[in-house]
Amino acid sequence: MTIFSNPEFDNHETVLFFKDPKTGLKAIIAIHDTTLGPALGGTRMWNYGSEEEALTDVLRLSRGMTYKSSLTGLNLGGGKSVIIGDAKTQKSPELFRAFGEAVGRLNGNYIAAEDVGTSVEDLEYARQSTSYIAGISEGGAGDPSPATSWGVFNGLKAAAKYGLNATDLKGVRVAVQGLGHVGYGLCKHLREAGAELIVTDIYDQMVQKAVAEFDAKAVKPEEIIQQDVDIFAPCALGAVLNDETIPELKAKIIAGAANNQLAEDRHGQILRDKGILYAPDYVINAGGIILISHEGPTFNRDKAMKQVAEIHDTLLNIFTRADRENRPTHEIAYQMARERIENTRLKMAS
Ligand code: NAD
Repeated sequence: MTIFSNPEFDNHETVLFFKDPKTGLKAIIAIHDTTLGPALGGTRMWNYGSEEEALTDVLRLSRGMTYKSSLTGLNLGGGKSVIIGDAKTQKSPELFRAFGEAVGRLNGNYIAAEDVGTSVEDLEYARQSTSYIAGISEGGAGDPSPATSWGVFNGLKAAAKYGLNATDLKGVRVAVQGLGHVGYGLCKHLREAGAELIVTDIYDQMVQKAVAEFDAKAVKPEEIIQQDVDIFAPCALGAVLNDETIPELKAKIIAGAANNQLAEDRHGQILRDKGILYAPDYVINAGGIILISHEGPTFNRDKAMKQVAEIHDTLLNIFTRADRENRPTHEIAYQMARERIENTRLKMAS
């Protein structure tokens, strides 16, 4: 396995590998940058095809967290962790307690939270071994997913306003890929706002539920990209915008929760060339981390949700600057995030 030469390494501050034969835990924790504060990021449990694939995923996700926290104005750094294993069959309280021990060894430089394949309940087991766990029910903000859905909904409204000149979402057609924690919540907000939904998931049960509850049209997972819609909302896994999918897109806007939607950075330019407005993933999906950043003795959910809704204006700024500078939106977002980190480094050095 290559590490320093991995294209995603990007000067990570720390990458740690943990194996616990007793519980079967195999985990990687990546800390990208702590200039703005301790690294906070979710724990993904996934049956990766190889350890290399797991490493690449954690590095990409961790770097994304650095930029997400920076752009959202949070005093947090970027980090992420992955547990290699099948979330449906290999979970146990002992495995998550062992994971909590691994997190604890980092003395607060990394704070773990929920992500794909892990739940609040899993993290509560981890919390029995370390206090550096966020987004749990007891004494915390609980599941961050509803805040993420709320943020994506507000970001999607900004994209519709900027890209479609739509003052509301009535009759706007949205294709939602993935009906998990975030995607399903997003559908609920969209439906309440009058949008028309086309949905898919690899689990038929969730699809049937969305059809019944939101009057959504269901399509097969492989058919969602080419739907004739105004907005495509990727809410499943990453790299969904690539050389194969982009030519098939009919949507004028991409606005969804999934992390790392662009298979490669160059795909952001390809979208711009095609006149497709892309809401950078780590900006539009920052709702969960904003909520978690409010945790503490004075936690106030309403105040946190108000800050989540500000994703709307952050995105409008990015869209406007992208057009002014004739550059892809993801580049503008990176630049704004990096500017804040660099300014903080300069202040710390002086
Ligand atoms: P989840 O696991 O609850 O939901 C993902 C859903 O996508 C599942 O229902 C799964 O069956 C479905 N799916 C997987 N592959 C698919 C495919 N090929 N086609 C259609 N459906 C498919 O995860 P989630 O918490 O809802 O997160 C969704 C995305 O948003 C992830 O990329 C995650 O990293 C990102 N995200 C989540 C949060 C959060 O607060 N949960 C925050 C920021 C970003």
